[in-house]
Amino acid sequence: MMQVVVPSGFEKRIRRNELLSRHTTWHVGGPADVWFVPRDIADLSSFLAQLCPEVPVTWVGLGSNVLVRDAGIRGVVICPHGALSSLERLDATRIRAEAGVPCARLGRQALKWGLGPAEFFAGIPGTLGGALAMNAGAWGGETWQRVLEVETMDRHGVVRRRSPSEYQVGYRSVVPPAPGEWFVAATFGFEPDALASTDSIRRLLERRLASQPIGEWSCGSVFTNPPGDHAARLIEAAGLKGFRVGDAGVSTKHANFIINHGHARAADLEAVIRHVQDTVERVHGVRLHPEVRVLGEPA
Ligand SMILES: Cc1cc2nc3c(=O)[nH]c(=O)nc-3n(C[C@H](O)[C@H](O)[C@H](O)COP(=O)(O)OP(=O)(O)OC[C@H]3O[C@@H](n4cnc5c(N)ncnc54)[C@H](O)[C@@H]3O)c2cc1C
Repeated sequence: MMQVVVPSGFEKRIRRNELLSRHTTWHVGGPADVWFVPRDIADLSSFLAQLCPEVPVTWVGLGSNVLVRDAGIRGVVICPHGALSSLERLDATRIRAEAGVPCARLGRQALKWGLGPAEFFAGIPGTLGGALAMNAGAWGGETWQRVLEVETMDRHGVVRRRSPSEYQVGYRSVVPPAPGEWFVAATFGFEPDALASTDSIRRLLERRLASQPIGEWSCGSVFTNPPGDHAARLIEAAGLKGFRVGDAGVSTKHANFIINHGHARAADLEAVIRHVQDTVERVHGVRLHPEVRVLGEPA
């Protein structure tokens, strides 16, 4: 634990020792020393400008792609979900969305405005901030294909506008021009799409439901696909479907998903991840790399 002094006026608005298992789709993770949901971008800027520079800061969106370890996260955890939630149409083809907006909301709203292609956002259970950090994608679409501009905030609360050309963007990978900046908003460019309909989103969600263990506690695909192959195929062919450590197990429906069956700890999930990596490497000669981001400290 770290005794964090927060800027005056904020004490009543933060939560101390907030269990992060309440904020991750895997339902694991120890406490954050301080959990802070800002009111808006200006409020967050003021908080960070006054926060002692030595205090570590971590951002978590909807916690759908993080493995928070059992001893939790030291310092302040900032969550823009439910706070940085503005979503507006700027003109015929441009939409500005803040980092706390759920991807699904952008997918559905773009459709209502007759803009596309944005269906793929509808199936991603995270925030746009998380999608920007991960270059989240599905069904051939990727977040950064649609980004015209991002707005970032640094550790001192300074906001910047940046162009996509300043980032090295790849498959589930985004390298920023400077370390220590987070996304607070982005402007996306779409095209008028007269054929866009809720049917297309429904069909894609049905496909997802048929092939993935939706509704169980997971973080989606755990490993990135190696070039020219699929992590799920390699894991299944190595005989690992159903492999368990405690309550953490490889899904029997989709081998790239690891499920918390109820009482798994982060350590159990990490043990399954390591076993899968080692076994797949021994059987296929390929080392799988986690897509999920590991945060915090082990117990
Ligand atoms: C059932 C299921 C299905 C999924 N399907 C897909 C899929 O099809 N495609 C796909 O790409 N992903 C998928 N995911 C993974 C996940 O939903 C995405 O990666 C999503 O973009 C993560 O967003 P989040 O808000 O949950 O981020 P979090 O998990 O909270 O954070 C992920 C990372 O982003 C960082 N981060 C969060 N917010 C910000 C910010 N504002 N600025 C900078 N960094 C930030 C965090 O520090 C962390 O490193 C799935 C997950 C689940 C549970």
